[in-house]
Amino acid sequence: MRFVTFAKRGRPTVGVISESGDEVVDLSVAAPRLGDLVSIIEGGDKAMVQVRTAQRTRKKEARRPRSRVKLMAPIPVPRRNIFCVGKNYHEHAKEFHSSGFDASAGQAAVPDCPIIFSKSWTTVIGPGDPIPASADKTRSVDYEVELGVIIGKGGRKISKRAAYDHVFGYTIINDVTSRELQQCHKQWFLGKNFDGFCPMGPAVVTADEVGRLRDIRVRTEVNGESRQDAAVKDLIFDIPTLIKTLSDVMTLMPGDIIATGTPAGVGIGFKPPKFLKKGDIVTLTIDKVGKLENPVA
Ligand code: MG
Repeated sequence: MRFVTFAKRGRPTVGVISESGDEVVDLSVAAPRLGDLVSIIEGGDKAMVQVRTAQRTRKKEARRPRSRVKLMAPIPVPRRNIFCVGKNYHEHAKEFHSSGFDASAGQAAVPDCPIIFSKSWTTVIGPGDPIPASADKTRSVDYEVELGVIIGKGGRKISKRAAYDHVFGYTIINDVTSRELQQCHKQWFLGKNFDGFCPMGPAVVTADEVGRLRDIRVRTEVNGESRQDAAVKDLIFDIPTLIKTLSDVMTLMPGDIIATGTPAGVGIGFKPPKFLKKGDIVTLTIDKVGKLENPVA
C-alpha cells in the first residue's frame, strides 16, 4: 500500500492510494478513527486491516482524483528528528573524502562504523515545495537522494536478523546540505538543518509492496541532467546494520525515519562543484517508491 498525506482545507490529512492507482482514498472520511500516518503505524496489523477495508470504500466523498490533491510530506511533522547516515555508499565516501568538504575525515574515506547524525523535524517539506537554497548565504547547497526507512514496530536492541520485521515501509528523502556549514562547524548538524532542507515523499510505500531491496536504484536528476544513479545493494552499512546500530543505543519508535545515505554524484563531486541555484528542478526517483520533485528557491 502507498500512504500519502495531503492538504485538506490546509490541514494534513492521511490517505491511501486506491487499488486502481488513480485515486486517493481520504482516510479521515473512510476510516476517521485511524488518525494520522504515525498513529496507523502504531496501530499495527489491526489498523492495516481497517485501512484495507477503507481502501475499498464506496463513500464517494472519500475518493479524490490523485491529480487533484496537494501532497504534503507523508509524515509532515515527525515526532522526533530524522536519523541520517553519512558516507554510506563506497563511491560517495571516496568522492566526499577527496572534495575538501569532509571535516569528519580521519585517514580513511570509508568509515569503520556508521556515521549517524539527525535532521530536525522542522526541515521537512513536501513534494513540489521549494527548497530554500537562498537561506544559505554561503551558496553551497547540495542535494542527496536517499532511501528513507520508516520504522513500524519499535524496539530496543533489535538484531540484524529481526530488523526487517521492524520496517513499515520506505520513502524518498532529499538530505539537502549546506557544504560550507557542514565543513565549517565540523559536526554536520547545522549544515543539514536549515528549515526546509528535508524534502520527503511522495508516499510511504509498505515494505511488502517494495519487496527485495537489492536491485532497487536511487537516482537524482537536476534540470533533467542525470547526477546520481546507484543500487541500494551498494550501501556500506545495510539496513539491518543501521537498525541494530541505532537500537543498540536508543529505543526506536513507530514512525521513526532513517535516511540511509546517498550515493556518488552529489554536487561537490564535480570540479568545479555544481551547487543548487534558484530555478533548478531536483528530481529524485527510487524504483517502486516513486518520484520526488522540488524546485529550488
Ligand atoms: Mg545524506
